[in-house]
Amino acid sequence: MIDLHAHSNYSDGTADPVELIQLAQASGVTGLAITDHDNIAAYSIAAPAAKQLGIELITGVELSSVLQGHSVHVLGYAFCPHSDVLEEKCRWYQEQRRVRNCKMLELLAAKKMVVEESDLGGIGTIGRPHIAMAMIAKGYVKTIQEAFAKYLGEHKSCYVAGERWSAEEAIAIIHAAKGKAVIAHPHVIRKQSIIRKLLALPFDGIEVYYGNFDAHTNQRWLQVAQEKGWLATGGSDFHGDVKPDVRLASATCPVTDFEVLKAHFYANL
Ligand code: AMP
Ligand code: ZN
Ligand code: FE
Ligand code: FE
Repeated sequence: MIDLHAHSNYSDGTADPVELIQLAQASGVTGLAITDHDNIAAYSIAAPAAKQLGIELITGVELSSVLQGHSVHVLGYAFCPHSDVLEEKCRWYQEQRRVRNCKMLELLAAKKMVVEESDLGGIGTIGRPHIAMAMIAKGYVKTIQEAFAKYLGEHKSCYVAGERWSAEEAIAIIHAAKGKAVIAHPHVIRKQSIIRKLLALPFDGIEVYYGNFDAHTNQRWLQVAQEKGWLATGGSDFHGDVKPDVRLASATCPVTDFEVLKAHFYANL
């Protein structure tokens, strides 16, 4: 089994990169990509453990971007692990996120929910899930869901969009790092006009198999991949304890598509 969508604690997952490798082995996963939001640190931490346990690990990332006001996620795979471009872009984005987080904390404080920047746990990419956790710790809400539904969700009272790359820029960044750019979870994009616009961009693949979606839903995206001549990738979007209903390898990537990514990756090493 190959799972090309998993988050570590370098973004909003709960397992550290080495624990992810161990879990992969225990779950029968033989190929993996750690796709943290806007952060590529997990790969080099996990790589020695992957080698030791016989897991084929390729580089991965999930870039937060925007297309006509809608949030869209762009997956990047098999890029050069020593890419200065990606590292530099992720560092810049980390700074933008700090500015955005502070703005959201100000909006919460105005509602008498005081959370300090130092209350936000986490390493790497820190965002709304970390704010939600801090709100729970302070007793302002009971669950992450509640924090998003009332305050942090898109267009809710304490939401701030912040600086983000355009989808085109996200693709260009991945290509500059010699990686393959893949549309993440089209299953969750509601607006057909956004889907149409995405399909016209220079992607190399689309995430056909995703999370807990059924074969019928995935079929639609497989058809798209075939029409476009794109890679058909797949993965669970595993986040660990914060999303307990999604287990590693709940969705998997076809071996043939992984072979293409692997060959590309080894050429970049
Ligand atoms: P951010 O990148 O800071 O905007 O946070 C986005 C992340 O928050 C997503 O990747 C999800 O993991 C999480 N998230 C988004 N919406 C919700 C929601 N309604 N409930 C729980 N988690 C969410
Ligand atoms: Zn996430
Ligand atoms: Fe995503
Ligand atoms: Fe994800």
